Amino acid sequence: MVLSELRQNDHLSASAILGYVDCSLAYKFGRIDKLPMEFKSDALEFGTCIHRVLEEFYSARMIGEKMLLKDVHQLFETTWTGIAADRDDIRYAEGNDFKSLLMYGKDLLTAWYNKLPDDQFTILAIEEAFTFTLPGVSIPIIGAMDLVEEDSAGTIIITDFKTSGRAYSKDEVDQNQQLTMYQIAAKRNGYADREILLRFDTLIKTKTPKFEQYWTVRSELDERRLIKKAVQVWDGITKGVFVANDLSWRCKGCAYKKACDDYLEAEGEEYDQASNQ
Ligand code: SF4
Repeated sequence: MVLSELRQNDHLSASAILGYVDCSLAYKFGRIDKLPMEFKSDALEFGTCIHRVLEEFYSARMIGEKMLLKDVHQLFETTWTGIAADRDDIRYAEGNDFKSLLMYGKDLLTAWYNKLPDDQFTILAIEEAFTFTLPGVSIPIIGAMDLVEEDSAGTIIITDFKTSGRAYSKDEVDQNQQLTMYQIAAKRNGYADREILLRFDTLIKTKTPKFEQYWTVRSELDERRLIKKAVQVWDGITKGVFVANDLSWRCKGCAYKKACDDYLEAEGEEYDQASNQ
């Protein structure tokens, strides 16, 4: 089953858990009330585009072909045009527009392509959707691993593709919950007896584009911490606990800012209705 099908039913995911913990009111607007986003950020759309290109690159590699850089560029141009051309709901960061990101994306992919190690791992899956249940959470946890590989010793390597505005610190990589969730999912979906390595392939959108691979591992304690958090998040959702984290740095770029202000500033009956949704 693919992720879009799994998303049709009620579920939790690593990003949903993180989203709830960051601002449960934004979680409610997006995932429960299903309010349309007030805008889409250029970073989000650009990241989706890069992700699709990498997915195609590895699909070719899986059947023994290596795309040339010029083909990667062409694929990016076609995909970015399909995603972003003539859209008026994309909010571009200062200095960015459709054309500048078209050029920048090619430079970023060049940095990635030229630094990508020529490893000989066997590709087991690309965009591998998963689902599993946890005790205490009555809906499935779902997600998709961007790339699953195996080395010659049988170790499983799970990679998540990222585009980021900056390099990651070691702590960020070692504590990332998405990777922890992938390890839990892998163990519950056939890889419980394997050693598992986790990796971010990160295309870094600095002035001079960069590419870094960050490797990490997870312990059973890391898994236990995330499982406990997932149960707490589910408990909060089922009890209707949605709190605005309106001092967060995320508020400035939040796609529900107007809905949030309307909700927080409403009086009387309106407030009661909103708080009882
Ligand atoms: S503006 Fe801030 S407090 Fe309001 S929903 Fe968005 S992130 Fe949450």
